[in-house]
Amino acid sequence: MFDLPITPVARVGGLVAGRASPGGGPDLPVYYPGTGAQVSVLVEDGPEAVAAAVEAARRAFDHGPWPRLSTPERIDVLERCRAAILAHVDELARLECVATGLLMRELRAMHMQRAAYNFRFFADYISQTAGQRYDQAPGYMTTVARVPVGVAALIAPWNAPVALATMKIAAALAFGNTCVLKPSEQTPLALARLVDLLQEVLPEGVLNLVNGRGPVTGAALVAHPGVDLVSFTGGTETGRQIMAAAGRNLVPCTMELGGKSANIVFASADQDRALDGALLGIFSNNGQQCLAGSRILVERGIFDEFTGRFAERAARIRVGDPLDPATEIGPLASAPHMARVLGFAGSAQAEGCRILTGGARREDLGEGYFIQPTAVVAPSNAAHVAQEEIFGPFATFLPFDTADEAAAIANDTKFGLVSYVWSDHLPTVMTMTERLRSGVVWVNTPMMRELRAPFGGFKASGVGREGGASCEAFYTEERTVTIPTVPPPLRRLGTAD
Ligand code: NDP
Repeated sequence: MFDLPITPVARVGGLVAGRASPGGGPDLPVYYPGTGAQVSVLVEDGPEAVAAAVEAARRAFDHGPWPRLSTPERIDVLERCRAAILAHVDELARLECVATGLLMRELRAMHMQRAAYNFRFFADYISQTAGQRYDQAPGYMTTVARVPVGVAALIAPWNAPVALATMKIAAALAFGNTCVLKPSEQTPLALARLVDLLQEVLPEGVLNLVNGRGPVTGAALVAHPGVDLVSFTGGTETGRQIMAAAGRNLVPCTMELGGKSANIVFASADQDRALDGALLGIFSNNGQQCLAGSRILVERGIFDEFTGRFAERAARIRVGDPLDPATEIGPLASAPHMARVLGFAGSAQAEGCRILTGGARREDLGEGYFIQPTAVVAPSNAAHVAQEEIFGPFATFLPFDTADEAAAIANDTKFGLVSYVWSDHLPTVMTMTERLRSGVVWVNTPMMRELRAPFGGFKASGVGREGGASCEAFYTEERTVTIPTVPPPLRRLGTAD
């Protein structure tokens, strides 16, 4: 029904030290979510190919120039990575669109710009980093330097592959590490091209790529003893497995996991702004984002009016072709994911939720994975649709009477990634920001990420943080060196008569 964003790509595989990886696994299909058509074949990397990639990264770390470059030299390379992305925005956006179904307009204007900026951000960051020095009487000096950790295993999700993976790649590289990247097997195309492009800029073996299914290629990567750290973004259950594997090798990991974030609207809020923010909070990125404001808590006095206006706007959202600049929501990323999201519409009805709008597939849009923007009112916060991360354009509404009750409902979840508060009453805002158990609180704004600040979750939403200083701490080891400035006399053992 809709045109393809690109002509089909014959085969895509991994890249080890700049050359095609040995593969070794089966061929996997890659589909365009806009039509359900197969657009490429992915060659899976088996355990031997994964080992070759880790060994290439190890060689580049132990013997190559990358960890030993001066900071200005490394900044220069990071700037060239940024330039390479900016020179290929349209191509990368089309490859990302064909595998994810994300909107071309947003991929060009936001995701690819953000990918380029990730390299600029960490180039700027390392230009400002400093070590520590302690002077200790009598005549000892102690310095603390941050040094690269080694080989970084970077596991990227399918919901914003390039934007999220480049945060990891840029941070790992900026602090002198070498990398093996594993994209989601559903969305490998743009990252494969990006890694290929960056080979022209980076020394051999510094950035390697393995492809394939998570439980095969991803599991082999995180279990490999040559990996020194693991950075993961994805689902909570997968995070548990990866952290267990990293634990067996005693390597540090960061886990950026799921969420069921509360979007709390008080009667004291600017209602129009809160409505716009709530719609953006759940329906951006085709509804597939970890930081989605997916539980919308609304003060009882304005509940009916707010939910009515929300449903009316949600029903008018233009769902359709990701290439059409007028489209507001594209397809979900895969057929199984669409079935899962629609399953929540079924469970909502079974649990006595009131369907405000949506809840069904857009059959009129052909074979693509399109669903109606959906909003329901749950009977309580215990409902399945109020507790589970749906990861689609699906909002669950709950009423509350007081700020205490709003905080209690917001915190009554296994997750704790972000929260949103809408109110023009300062004491209410301050009370809520203190009580909410989440890594980030956005007040009177939809998602507004500040890269210098930590981003990550409480509870099942994650372990560790991404962001300026948090990435510096994660992607480096601290090395303490003590040296006498004027060597003082030492106590002399074994000199007694
Ligand atoms: P996963 O967590 O399985 O996928 C994320 C990445 O991990 C992918 O690259 C995946 O590879 C890889 N992976 C999967 N299993 C392993 C493993 N054992 N070892 C190493 N790597 C592995 O996400 P799902 O696709 O299963 O999505 C499930 C749910 O997770 C979603 O519905 C959503 O709720 C949440 N999610 C949250 C994200 C976030 O931004 N925090 C992003 C994506 C999902 P592959 O895809 O090839 O299997």
